[in-house]
Amino acid sequence: MKPAAEVGKDILSSPNKSEATPARELLRRVFGHQSFRTPQAEVIDHVLAGHDALVLMPTGGGKSLCYQLPALLRPGVAVVVSPLIALMKDQVTQLCALGVRAAVLNSTLSWDEMLDVERSLKKGEFDLIYMAPERLLTERMLQLLEQMPIALFAIDEAHCVSQWGHDFRPEYLGLSVLSQRWPNVPRIALTATATEQTRQEILARLGMPAARSFVTGFDRPNIFYQVAEKDEIRTQLWQFIRHKHRGQSGIVYCASRQRTDDLAAWLVNKGLTALPYHAGLDRETRTRHQQQFQQAPDAVMVATIAFGMGIDKPDIRFVAHVDMPKSLEHYYQETGRAGRDGQAASAWLAYGLSDVLQRQRLFSEATDNPANQQRMVKAFDTMVSFCESIECRRQQLLAHFGQSSEPCGHCDNCLNSDAVQDVSEAAQKMLSAVYRLWRQRGQRFGSGHVIDILRGRTTARVSSLGHDSLSVFGIGSELSVAQWRRLLRRLLSEQMLVLDDEGYGTLALTEASVAVLKGQQHLSMRWG
Ligand code: ADP
Ligand code: ZN
Repeated sequence: MKPAAEVGKDILSSPNKSEATPARELLRRVFGHQSFRTPQAEVIDHVLAGHDALVLMPTGGGKSLCYQLPALLRPGVAVVVSPLIALMKDQVTQLCALGVRAAVLNSTLSWDEMLDVERSLKKGEFDLIYMAPERLLTERMLQLLEQMPIALFAIDEAHCVSQWGHDFRPEYLGLSVLSQRWPNVPRIALTATATEQTRQEILARLGMPAARSFVTGFDRPNIFYQVAEKDEIRTQLWQFIRHKHRGQSGIVYCASRQRTDDLAAWLVNKGLTALPYHAGLDRETRTRHQQQFQQAPDAVMVATIAFGMGIDKPDIRFVAHVDMPKSLEHYYQETGRAGRDGQAASAWLAYGLSDVLQRQRLFSEATDNPANQQRMVKAFDTMVSFCESIECRRQQLLAHFGQSSEPCGHCDNCLNSDAVQDVSEAAQKMLSAVYRLWRQRGQRFGSGHVIDILRGRTTARVSSLGHDSLSVFGIGSELSVAQWRRLLRRLLSEQMLVLDDEGYGTLALTEASVAVLKGQQHLSMRWG
């Protein structure tokens, strides 16, 4: 029997191809799928015609076919650049099982194996060859490839070229050389995550300004989005898993290694199959935990974001965040690992005032690059607004990726839309208190002190500073500490209050505060 790839090439040259296009024929025969998903057919036509493309599809959308089919239909070998060795191997194994002639060139091969692959490559025995960017960019490899026809270059996980993104790989920057050395070979860049800004960056850095972008919907309709207020985080997480996802597989994302270890141990104590995963564990442990997670139907991976790209488990039923993700893109990417099989899944995030106060830390970290720092802080602010917002979560997420939509009816905000109240008056009280204190400059007052004054508590600090004689003392006794804190968080997220830049947590008013104080702007939130 002929290898599948040759079958494909026969079809291409066959005179009778009126009804079924060669791509469609191959889709059925080799991959066993009946029809294309949008925008696969369009992308494939575009690349077959020799043009560059940027493909943005959510995880599980079917990006691989966009280059695998043209690889079979264009003469020469398709070079696939991918950052992850494990992922490459899986893909190649799957392709070989389908009868496609594919191979990997990476550091897991012995010297002899490598020479073997290179020999076959030279003889034109592959339709696809997968390699990491650092391998491709060696002069030896570039020269080798120059001796043979190249069908296309596919650059997977193309967002790795973005220096501001979450998976930056410096080697990716070198890939622009492909446009210089192979100006006539089509290139196709693929990613599951990219805002407009990242898209532009990918096109610029890969040197493909004329590439056509193909963007599909980013909606993951089977994921239920929920943001909870952080209180007793472990108990909350435990309740969430117990009530909604008992015996199911999930990922819990934490911000630090320590927290990962602690939380995993705690969950094990509760009787769960919980496994820690972070960059501080040795490679063996990580691999073992990943395998256990992959195989056990009820395993919960408690991980930092080191556990990420390339997770290929279709039945992850929940992704929980016990700390705030760094940006909405991170959040989308991380939660997107749930429910790849299309069955119902949850994205649960708990956050509190302490998470919002992290913003201050961002200022002090990464000060070596002010532009980078600014972007980090902006990304973080967007994340906070998302948490605080009373609008449909899905609508916000999609809008972030440039896609407009109606409220989804399948997120916490859509389900609770009646519990929203006007809190302008309480906001005015809090802003007035901050203003009175601000007039006593030179002193530093944190949020706790402001709330004490509002609630009329005569603490030692309040008495010693004489703050019980302020006009705002006790004007907010009707609200609980928790409610004031919630309101404070909201004011911070709306930039109606800011923290000073010196890291003391002192509150200050902004231009936006004035509009609220004057009653020109109203503020609504879920009071709970
Ligand atoms: P991505 O790389 O975008 O995450 P994959 O290329 O791995 O997604 O595809 C995800 C799944 O969808 C795979 O199981 C693949 O076989 C399947 N798939 C892709 N295209 C089609 C199609 N046209 N019809 C049916 N299934 C498809
Ligand atoms: Zn919604």
